Amino acid sequence: MTTPPICDYEGSDYQASFWDQGGRAYEDRTEAIALKRLLPPRGRLLLELGAGAGRNTPRYLGFDRIVLLDYSRTQLEQALQRLGKSDRYVYVAADVYRLPFVAELFDAATMIRVLHHMADAPKALGQVKNVLGADGVFILEYANKLNLKAILRYLLGRQTWSPFTLEPVEFVKLNFDFHPRAVRGWLENLDFRIEKTLTLSHFRVGLLKRIVPTGILVFLDSLFQWTGAWWQLSPSVFVKAKNVGRVSNPSKRDSILSYFKCPDCESSPLVDKTDFLECSNCGKKWGVRDGIYDFREPVKPERS
Ligand SMILES: [Zn+2]
Repeated sequence: MTTPPICDYEGSDYQASFWDQGGRAYEDRTEAIALKRLLPPRGRLLLELGAGAGRNTPRYLGFDRIVLLDYSRTQLEQALQRLGKSDRYVYVAADVYRLPFVAELFDAATMIRVLHHMADAPKALGQVKNVLGADGVFILEYANKLNLKAILRYLLGRQTWSPFTLEPVEFVKLNFDFHPRAVRGWLENLDFRIEKTLTLSHFRVGLLKRIVPTGILVFLDSLFQWTGAWWQLSPSVFVKAKNVGRVSNPSKRDSILSYFKCPDCESSPLVDKTDFLECSNCGKKWGVRDGIYDFREPVKPERS
């Protein structure tokens, strides 16, 4: 099966270098505020797409269980270390373009700083749509190409690509910025209804971050976030969308095994064989090791 190229954080020290020592306290705190404003107060099952090392996971307080999904196994190992093994968290290594979950499973999904790496964004969003139940809430963050800095640079002739056109811009390999109208169009085509839009990181300027105390920038940004309802000119945008146009809600699933389908042939349920889950349709085996379900590549059949 061919899927678009994947930006893989395997073996990356992203959490330490970008967040913990990278001077991103301002961005991290503004995201915490946006999530508080957009998340439903409670719910059963939430899917965190591109969970990484679990930086945002403790913020999903109202949910009974959280499925952390990432393509990188080493990122999930860091998340597991941070959050621990418990019934509350399920760790899944998988490809966003081939989600290993049955349809309409989740009450909510979040995708933060992930669309940024999607070569085929509409395809990834379609996968999210498929696993969200009726009226499920989707919180999506994307990088905005129509931001003030890009507009100024373009007008001054310092940047070749136009921030005003709808197509994504790949400014570094597998790093994309999107036009707000394009993202809205994709969501609406999938029958998502956009309920709220917040703009973030208005003050992501090196000099400001160095001379103004972080708390003040965070407070100002928290006020500016609401202007996202009218215009989006900041580098980061959060959208809360509802999965409308679905009537039925399938029966509630409690066992983790019942969440999964085979990402290759899409059949379910899978059969639990302790070290792997086996697809009873195509026979592929999906590894389960050290608390992480791995749906990226099937386990190689053993030679006899
Ligand atoms: Zn299968």
